[in-house]
Amino acid sequence: MHIQNKKRFYLMMGLLGVVIILLGFSIAMIWSAISSNNAPVQTTSNTANPAAADSTQGNRTDTTASQAIADPTDTLVLVNKTTSLDEDYLPPDLVWVDLPGVRETQLRKEAAAALEDIFAAATAKKLSLYCCSGYRSYQTQEELYAENVKNYGQKEADLVSAKPGQSEHQTGLAMDVTAESVNFDLLESFGQTLEGEFIKNNAHQYGFIIRYPEDKTTITGYAYEPWHLRYVGKDVAAEIYEKKLTFEEYLKTS
Ligand SMILES: [Zn+2]
Repeated sequence: MHIQNKKRFYLMMGLLGVVIILLGFSIAMIWSAISSNNAPVQTTSNTANPAAADSTQGNRTDTTASQAIADPTDTLVLVNKTTSLDEDYLPPDLVWVDLPGVRETQLRKEAAAALEDIFAAATAKKLSLYCCSGYRSYQTQEELYAENVKNYGQKEADLVSAKPGQSEHQTGLAMDVTAESVNFDLLESFGQTLEGEFIKNNAHQYGFIIRYPEDKTTITGYAYEPWHLRYVGKDVAAEIYEKKLTFEEYLKTS
C-alpha cells in the first residue's frame, strides 16, 4: 500500500469507526426510548388489572346478580335477586317435616316447629293444609329453574322461579303450602281459598310471612305467591304483617 492509500485507508477506517459509534449510540437511544415507552404501557396494564378484576367481579355480579351474604344461618337472612347463597350452603339443622304433604320435605328445626303449630291451628278450624316444598338444594333449584326457562322462557321463568342461589327454599326457612281445593297445586287462587285466607290472616302469629305479596312485584321481584311462607320469627312477622311491608322494606327500615 502506498502512503497516500494508507492515509485514505486510515481516514476511511476512522470515519467508519465514528459511524459505528454513532449508530451504536442511536440504537442505544432508540432502545432506551422503547423501554421507557414500555414502562407506561406496563403501568397502564398494571392499573388496568385491578379494573379488570373489578369488571370480572362486575360480570360475576351481573351473572348471578348477587351480593354475598354475611351469615346465611341468620333467621333474618335476605335471599332475593340481588343477594345469593353459596352453591354449597346447607342449612345446619334441617329436619324432615312431620306434616301432611304432597312429598317428603325438610325445613330448619325452628321453622318446622312453627309450621307444626300453624297446621295444628288450621286443623282446629277444620282446614287442611299440605306441605308442598320446603328446603331445596342449590342443585335442585338449578334443575327447576332450567326446566322453567325451557317451558316458559327466561322472562316468565324469572318472575315465578328463582335462579340457583337466589331461592329462599335453600335457606330451609321457606315452605310452599297448598290445599285440596286447588288440587294440591301452587296457584294464585290459593289466596282466595279458606286455607289461603287463614294463612294470610294468621301466619304472622306463628312467625311466618307471605313473602311475595300481591302488588309488591316491583320490590320483591316475584309475582304474588300466596302459598310461599317464610319463617322470620314471631316479632318480625307481626311487624311486617301490621305495617303491610315486604321483607325487603322491613330490613331497610329496621
Ligand atoms: Zn316457594
